[in-house]
Amino acid sequence: MRRRAVRRTVVSIVIAALALAGVALFLSNPRARCALRIAPGFTRHEADSRIYYETGAEEIASRLADALPRAVARVESTLSMPFRSDFRVYLCNTHESFAAHAGHHRSTPVRGLAFSRDIWVSPKAFSFHGRDTHEQTLAHELTHLHVGQQVGWLHRVRFLPGWFLEGLADWVSGTGLEVVSRDRALSALLYGPRLELDSTGRFPVPKGPSDYGIDGHMLHAQSLMFVEYLSVGREEAFRGLVRDVLTGERFGPAFEQRYGRTLDEEWAEFLKSLGGEAEGRDARLPSPPGEAT
Ligand SMILES: [Zn+2]
Repeated sequence: MRRRAVRRTVVSIVIAALALAGVALFLSNPRARCALRIAPGFTRHEADSRIYYETGAEEIASRLADALPRAVARVESTLSMPFRSDFRVYLCNTHESFAAHAGHHRSTPVRGLAFSRDIWVSPKAFSFHGRDTHEQTLAHELTHLHVGQQVGWLHRVRFLPGWFLEGLADWVSGTGLEVVSRDRALSALLYGPRLELDSTGRFPVPKGPSDYGIDGHMLHAQSLMFVEYLSVGREEAFRGLVRDVLTGERFGPAFEQRYGRTLDEEWAEFLKSLGGEAEGRDARLPSPPGEAT
């Protein structure tokens, strides 16, 4: 009887130790800590309580507080839907700090990140390749957050293609062409390397640029140009597609219903239209293929 009690106690201790080790392992991941809002060293902003800034970032935090209402209005009006729940904006004092919180290498070119509840912004957004992009970066990350709030993070990852999510966020916010120019993206679309389209997401790890066969800046530029193509002159179809996506429809079937053809067929038409566009611009086009600057 006593031996059984001892065994039960030992088993309980082992289970508790394993559970603790699991929690410790989970919390050792910086992104998990960000997702859980475990962020010591961040202070709530007086003027806008949605903003939490790291010590030392007081000045840029005030500029972020000024821009936030405009960025929110831009996302809500462009997507024709309000945010469903409150969120926070975390602003780091240095890009290195942002990279550490995001679990990225310190040289990461990323300047903002959306989690399921909040967004994080690097000070790099205030000086990105010579431009102040903090308001656009806010709108970009808020677009990701907005989509996640509407459909749920799991649905977003499983059923919505990454190129569309990026192209949509760039289209809403005015980002996407800061590093790769429109002409360079056009050249790549014509001669390669070119985005390999898909019509769904990927769980548990969403596709990154390398899965699409191009680098991150080129992914943004090409995705944005295709989204623009889908929206210009076909506002009703595009608005319908965005509404379908935000109300939980799967991307592929919604696309076919709204545009009356498959994604591949529309992509082929897009590339054909660029051939026409490029003919008049050959003198300005960079040399193909892939001579990155
Ligand atoms: Zn993005």
